[in-house]
Amino acid sequence: SDAHFPVPVSPSHVEYSLHYPHFFPSSDQMNDSKKIQFADIGCGFGGLLISLSTLFPETLMIGMELRDKVSEYVKERISALRVSNPGQYQNISVVRTNSMKYIPNYLEKGQLTKMFFLFPDPHFKEKNHRRRVISPHLLDEYAYVLGIGGIIYTITDVEELGDWMKSCLESHPMFEPLTEEELEADPVVKLLSCATEEGQKVARNGGQTFQAVFRRIVPTS
Ligand code: SAM
Repeated sequence: SDAHFPVPVSPSHVEYSLHYPHFFPSSDQMNDSKKIQFADIGCGFGGLLISLSTLFPETLMIGMELRDKVSEYVKERISALRVSNPGQYQNISVVRTNSMKYIPNYLEKGQLTKMFFLFPDPHFKEKNHRRRVISPHLLDEYAYVLGIGGIIYTITDVEELGDWMKSCLESHPMFEPLTEEELEADPVVKLLSCATEEGQKVARNGGQTFQAVFRRIVPTS
């Protein structure tokens, strides 16, 4: 359970020098201006982080993953990539955590520019909807850590969950959908269905996907 992993007491206690030693060479030389900007929630085996790393080499990114063995695997995968590609993959890292409880411990108000929810667990039964990673309540939290103009990307192969995520986002006063033109122009949108291990599995099986991509806005009162 959660009791077994440490959680920073606040975002200023996140150990940047351990996660991103290339950008933070020693802990007493903190580079206060550089912060994590992308978060992949339920990152699984880390395929998205790895694709994004070279696309945005100066942007710090974190994967959050609940399963211990999976997060350890991602850590090893990133270390191996750093060794075999000197100077690269320095901007990505992973933490084992329960994102539904601890996002405010890692991220401060307005710090993120992108947030990803790729192929989250569906929790089909009505009584389990409260376990879904997109919900009206959790969207308040995501709106808090995203800066104005920040983008939330969601995709699933479960139509019912796709409808649910979209309707939660549509109902929330702090999010608006990207237009077709904006979706076309965003290179990240193309990665949603193919960069992760789950996305590749769905594609191999010829499954349909349902995406919802929304921007954090200032609510109109
Ligand atoms: N995003 C990855 C992909 O597309 O390949 C993984 C998708 S997998 C179906 C969902 C992942 O979310 C699992 O690895 C699971 O352990 C993780 N997860 C579920 N609940 C979580 C939570 N509360 N906090 C962090 N990760 C969670």
